[in-house]
Amino acid sequence: MCGIMGYIGNRQAQSVLTNGLRKLEYRGYDSAGIAVFTGETIAVRKKTGRLAALEQQLAASPLHGSLGIGHTRWATHGRPSDENAHPHVDQSGKFSIVHNGIIENYLALKRELLEKGVTFASETDTEVIVHLLAELYAGDLVEAVLKLTRKIRGAYALGVITEHEPDKLVAVRVASPLIIGLGDGENFIGSDIPAVLEYTRDVCILEDGDLAILTKDDVTILNIDTKQLINRERVQI
Ligand code: GLU
Repeated sequence: MCGIMGYIGNRQAQSVLTNGLRKLEYRGYDSAGIAVFTGETIAVRKKTGRLAALEQQLAASPLHGSLGIGHTRWATHGRPSDENAHPHVDQSGKFSIVHNGIIENYLALKRELLEKGVTFASETDTEVIVHLLAELYAGDLVEAVLKLTRKIRGAYALGVITEHEPDKLVAVRVASPLIIGLGDGENFIGSDIPAVLEYTRDVCILEDGDLAILTKDDVTILNIDTKQLINRERVQI
């Protein structure tokens, strides 16, 4: 089991993400990484080993921006390595995702993508998700993620960002835990409540089939099958 952390707001995402990932260390991991929208592009730093190794890299070359996703990986497909660490990006570098879980039909999807000429940068099952997402994107991130959920099978908690829509962070939960932290002018995703507790005590526990759209000021939750809005209870911890 690994950890996911995501942030949208006004703080520097880098420190929020690494703080959150630290609180999720108890879940175990072999590598860690973050992706931050820097105002122009999505920049990624990822590293095998402890979070401290990633933090060293970040100290030498920090990322500035207030939208980002972070991940601690527990390898299931592909050995622990810098390349296999998350976040993953598509070929254009404009989409980035973190994934907790396993994509059961990734081999068939990977074959199709390879036939179309897509180049893979890792050995993970996860990477198919980001290439598929880029292929499905037609100007609406939420629509693309909804289409994606119809193509992939397995267990997944996802955090998704794109340079095309830097005002939002999209998250999905199917058979892998994910929570939302609700702040004032900022919102968070995390694999577990401790990840966000330093920043907010208001949380919302996602259920299977939930897709959450986070902006700085708002969180909307839809069901991936019905596309109906869902009202999840806001809990105070
Ligand atoms: N299956 C993915 C991988 O091996 C995600 C593993 C995880 O949940 O950390 O990269």
